[in-house]
Amino acid sequence: MIQNIQEFHSKLIDKKITVSELVSYYLKNIEDKNQNLNIYLEVFSDAMDYAKKCDTELENKSIDEITKILEDKKLFGVPVAIKDNILIKGKIASSSSKILENYVASYDATVIIKLRDAGAIFLGRVNMDEFAMGGSTENSAYGVTKNPLNTEYVAGGSSGGSAAAVSADMCLVALGSDTGGSIRQPASYNGISALKPTYGSVSRHGLMAMASSFDVIGPFSKDIEDVKKVFDIIKGVDDKDSTTHILLEPMSKSKIKVGVPNEFIFTEGVSDEVKESIKNTIEKLTQKGIEVIDISIPLLKEALALYYILVPAEVSSNMARYDGIRYGKSIDTKNGIEDYMQTRGQLLGAEVKRRIILGTYILSAGYHDAYYKKALILREKLTQDIKEKFKDIDVILTPTTPDTAFKIGEKITDPLTLYLADIFTVTANLVGMPAISIPYKNDKDENGTENKMPLGLQFMANTDDENVLFSIAKVL
Ligand code: GLN
Repeated sequence: MIQNIQEFHSKLIDKKITVSELVSYYLKNIEDKNQNLNIYLEVFSDAMDYAKKCDTELENKSIDEITKILEDKKLFGVPVAIKDNILIKGKIASSSSKILENYVASYDATVIIKLRDAGAIFLGRVNMDEFAMGGSTENSAYGVTKNPLNTEYVAGGSSGGSAAAVSADMCLVALGSDTGGSIRQPASYNGISALKPTYGSVSRHGLMAMASSFDVIGPFSKDIEDVKKVFDIIKGVDDKDSTTHILLEPMSKSKIKVGVPNEFIFTEGVSDEVKESIKNTIEKLTQKGIEVIDISIPLLKEALALYYILVPAEVSSNMARYDGIRYGKSIDTKNGIEDYMQTRGQLLGAEVKRRIILGTYILSAGYHDAYYKKALILREKLTQDIKEKFKDIDVILTPTTPDTAFKIGEKITDPLTLYLADIFTVTANLVGMPAISIPYKNDKDENGTENKMPLGLQFMANTDDENVLFSIAKVL
């Protein structure tokens, strides 16, 4: 149907479509396919009212007047799916957890206010791994989300619902959150584009915290232009999030230079198909006159270990607020401490509990210096090493994931294998830099000779240099 915001808006100007028609189209798809795919946890009953309001606003307007409205409201009438850990006032936000099953948000996240001001329509909230911990949406308390391209496979995670909603034509764009790859990995498994912005470029106010020094909200779409449009709307300083910063003005570049950490990519555990995709991409970039150089960042090998020390530590602290007293559900045993233990014991899932236990251990006296402090020091060293590289290059190319989507149930019993799938994505969060995932197009697939699951290419750039990511995406 509609491919991107620009096409939608041109058709609105030409009066070839109404906002209600587009919203109805997505609602119909949701009705037909959601029972099987399990993408939406809730469809908002007021979405159609907002659509009609938009149409009324355009009624009897001239082309010039409509153009002006669409210039002022860049996301006018755009139907958006929202990950279930982002607050919309008056709506349930459960983070796909039993403990927040009935939790109704008492305020809007800053990104929600910004999207609404830009004219967007919220279609509903979509599935995710519980509190964003996971990479397959299998940790949701409300069942797994199936990959729309092949329902035997996972849609990825933790923002599996957001990516699948876009790929299954159940919304035009979606929002997710990324702590260690949760935007880029599901985008890659669903064959779409998505951005993990620079840490602190998008407000986290109203995003349920997983690991506060890693978390960031970002957009998904089939079209990289839309990803940019949504990012431009949601970014910016927010006095409700002290970690947001005034964005640096990106330096203009006449030529993009790409660095590839070959020793990190061409190694055991990375599938042949993925290695092939990188080789082909390097070739394609070179043909287009872009300089590609081999780089070495030895600490990249340690990134996954650093991530799985620092993130559980922050998780264990952030999860302490779910005590059955302040938020959501609680189990009443008539004994305060027992209430607390039963509430957390019964209403939090296995992966969340695993990370709370691991994080508490890492932060405990005696182990804090051995693990947490060392990891912090190396996080800083890794950041400096990468900053140093960005003096010579503009972007770093890697695959998004070591392999394509896996089958539902294949890895969930073995958390360590699941963690390994994050090898290429966690670095950007450790160092706070932006990264995109864009679909890799294999010429053979385009001819329809092979029917494989999609692959993603990841580009990472220096702090606040999102523009160079959009530029390289366009080159490809
Ligand atoms: N898969 C990673 C993890 O489980 C990333 C999660 C995320 O980015 N929210 O930690």
